[in-house]
Amino acid sequence: MSEAPILKDTTRSSGREALQKNIQAAMALASAIRSTLGPKGLDKLLIDDEGRTLVTNDGVTVLETAKVEHPIAKMMINASSTQDRIAKDGTTSTVILAGEMLQNAWQLILQGIHPSTVARGYRKSEQYILQCMSEIKFEANENIKNSVVKTSLAGKGHSSMQETIARVSLDAVRMVAEQDSTVDLSKIKLISQTGGRVEDSKAFRGLMIPKKRISSNMMKTVKHGKIVLVDGGLEKSNVATDLKLNVTTVGVLESFRQEERNMLKRQVDKLIKNNVTVLACRESIDDDIKNYLAENGIQAFRRVARSDLNMLARVCNTNLINSIDALTTNDLGSFISSENTTIDGKDFWIIKGDGNAATIIAKASTADFVSEVERCFDDSIGVSIHLVEDGFVVCGGGASYVALARRLRRYAETIPGREQLAIEAYADAIEVIVRVLAENAGIDPITTLLDVVAKQTNNDSDYIGINLSTGRPSDMVELGVLEPQGIVKQAIIGATEVAISVLRIDDVLWAKQEMQMPDMPEDGM
Ligand code: ADP
Ligand code: MG
Repeated sequence: MSEAPILKDTTRSSGREALQKNIQAAMALASAIRSTLGPKGLDKLLIDDEGRTLVTNDGVTVLETAKVEHPIAKMMINASSTQDRIAKDGTTSTVILAGEMLQNAWQLILQGIHPSTVARGYRKSEQYILQCMSEIKFEANENIKNSVVKTSLAGKGHSSMQETIARVSLDAVRMVAEQDSTVDLSKIKLISQTGGRVEDSKAFRGLMIPKKRISSNMMKTVKHGKIVLVDGGLEKSNVATDLKLNVTTVGVLESFRQEERNMLKRQVDKLIKNNVTVLACRESIDDDIKNYLAENGIQAFRRVARSDLNMLARVCNTNLINSIDALTTNDLGSFISSENTTIDGKDFWIIKGDGNAATIIAKASTADFVSEVERCFDDSIGVSIHLVEDGFVVCGGGASYVALARRLRRYAETIPGREQLAIEAYADAIEVIVRVLAENAGIDPITTLLDVVAKQTNNDSDYIGINLSTGRPSDMVELGVLEPQGIVKQAIIGATEVAISVLRIDDVLWAKQEMQMPDMPEDGM
């Protein structure tokens, strides 16, 4: 059959060849981050185009920083980013799971099973184990929640750093949750500072902005008032810079300036009329108007970042306006208190609104370390939100995956035909987490897995996973190695989605350039 003219400039691979190449790409990517999984996972040193370096243990960071060309590898990275966005954790697991699902699928395809049969079996498996989650999850008390957040930081930093980050993140999330049952991530602000110990990081109530009011004549603290947020400034008109003034009489210039001041005054009068007591502008506020604002009891802040203004809008239940001239009563926000304070010698404006918010001041000793600390906070805030909103957890250390795989094997026996093989392959695939955790700790992966499975079955317990310090199967509840159920659920959903999408592709049309493969995993296929 001759190629359609439209495909002239494309490289085409189809059928089994296309699938094999795609699966290879997926496996190569999974093997690239395999060694970072778990508390004994190693770090990766990443170097970008400009030679900047970054040391991290975070799967999604490795993947998002890597320059990856292959579209299937990109699909895997997207799944990991989605996991990061939705669940904030489990990003490495998602990619490892997807890679393993595809590797096992390939073995079945080699035996003559059609990819769509495998895909159907995988979908059934996913649906079945998601139902089984309710059998293995349990509700966490407050102590357990702390362990859960700590587990999410496994392998990142030292133990007392994990302790602090977990405690501070949970504190911040609880502050926001006092009012809302669902916690809006955007109501938690993270300010990072270099110099100091991570252990001195702290959560504060309210939104904190590293700013000082523009004049010390203004009140330091204002309570229960109205706020206006301007996505612009309170300045003399810019037109003046382009204007040519013919100064013929003494006083013309002065009267021109006076008119400009009056214009600013008129804007402030509008604020006064609306009982506004706090003003925040993204751009500047003219020095000439400072005193007039102060005299009229208005606390003002200039050059406030747009991101902070947006947070202020959420916390004070209002919106940004372009200029004070456009102010209507709908644009007035309300707050409980607005105060100026100094913390460790730095100025902060702390505003508490009708909506709860929290600010975390994260400390780290060096600039390199600060970004790793920020990523840890990102993860643990995400995990804390899961916990505060849902509160159901499952065991880590691979325990929940083994518990689900055991159930899945029993289910497979009830499914006639070739799909049964796919369901068994899926059960094998999700056990990869135990194997990789063991591998990274230098423990024999196969024996470990078999021991964990045997102990779960003999003790009739879903809580047995791998204790990485002893290399023996142990009760993960006793060890405090626990994860929010939502993260495991999302990892299963994300990984299955990628695996099935890859299995559905049987034709790859590649524009002009040659297909570039990522490096092959060592064990090949
Ligand atoms: P991910 O990006 O998938 O979250 P991590 O590197 O954070 O990857 O590793 C998470 C895995 O490590 C989870 O399966 C978790 O249960 C496991 N884990 C964390 N701490 C321990 C521990 N102390 N013992 C055994 N497993 C652990
Ligand atoms: Mg993690």
